Amino acid sequence: MTDTNGLASPTSVRALVLLLTGVVAIAAGLVAFVASGAAALLAASPALVAAPASGPLNADAIPPHARYLAPWVVRAGSICPQITPPMIAAQIDLESSWRADAVADNPPERGGPAIGIAQFQRGTWASWGDDYDDDGRNGPDDPEDAIYAMGRLMCDLVAWASRNITANVLKGDPLDIAWAGYFCGRGCIASAGGVPAAGKAHDYPHQVRSRIGKYTLEAGGTGAWRLPLPADSYQFVSRFRPPSRPSHDGVDLAAATGTPIYAAAAGVVLAARCDSAYCDRPGNPNLSGCGLLVNINHGNGIATRYCHAVRLAVSAGEQVQAGQLIGWVGSTGRSSGPHLHFEVHRNAPPLTAANAVDPLSWLDSAGVHIRR
Ligand SMILES: [Zn+2]
Repeated sequence: MTDTNGLASPTSVRALVLLLTGVVAIAAGLVAFVASGAAALLAASPALVAAPASGPLNADAIPPHARYLAPWVVRAGSICPQITPPMIAAQIDLESSWRADAVADNPPERGGPAIGIAQFQRGTWASWGDDYDDDGRNGPDDPEDAIYAMGRLMCDLVAWASRNITANVLKGDPLDIAWAGYFCGRGCIASAGGVPAAGKAHDYPHQVRSRIGKYTLEAGGTGAWRLPLPADSYQFVSRFRPPSRPSHDGVDLAAATGTPIYAAAAGVVLAARCDSAYCDRPGNPNLSGCGLLVNINHGNGIATRYCHAVRLAVSAGEQVQAGQLIGWVGSTGRSSGPHLHFEVHRNAPPLTAANAVDPLSWLDSAGVHIRR
């Protein structure tokens, strides 16, 4: 993708359109760019499409090797309300199929190679990139940085598109214009008066839209419950308060380290923290506490707890949807191996031993079956 700065000021767009028309065919790298008046009219014909359904990110749809990037997709999709996490995921899918080492050749006069998971060119990276994950690396080949930079650029593009639609300079749907602009640059959009009438830049918004559904969790809505782990990812290993463990206030589901943990229902995160002496490495059966834990308040007195995560994806105070990624299975705290310890509480908060109920019967009553 390319992106040229300088067209963002609404007052200068008309003048710049005229200025750029001659050079943009080279600058934009658009194969099927046509600058004739007829083509411009065609491109300007309204392509009003309803905004894609927005829901929480379906992290399961990300290929396993890249699933650890889900929190960055959520961050990048939370910068502005128009660009959601499923949209970011769809665009990463289209740009690189989640390959951080992707490089697409592009001659220097078209901005040089497109690099990394979000296919940034060096010039664009200079404007939008940074070491967002603070790992000392700052480049389009750093996937965390690149995903967040994509979010920033997309938010700016959609605001730019909206301003120019209002000013009657561009025509079309602001999201489609922003997506096409990500691909071919603002100059190419300005000369076409919107999404170009043909070619790769024309197809790009359609290709993003067609991928959004796969990265969107079906709307759960208030009261809808789901499994806290992907189906088939776990083994039921311990029940609620068996005779041998009368103080075991939840169920244990063994799963591989790194398996996504989902909010079992919509709610607000009450706590997301380390509850043990340490959580930077696996614990052991002699350590006390729940390790890295998340508590969620679902309202009506219902709350859930998730223990022993290797890493968390939410923080206290955050609103979550049913099925939203909240962390990854680990073995922190009092634990002898990677598993999710899951509790359900009634008449909470606070979550106490006295108000813990059997998660199996609770979920059964909500129509969700934990395999055992
Ligand atoms: Zn347990």
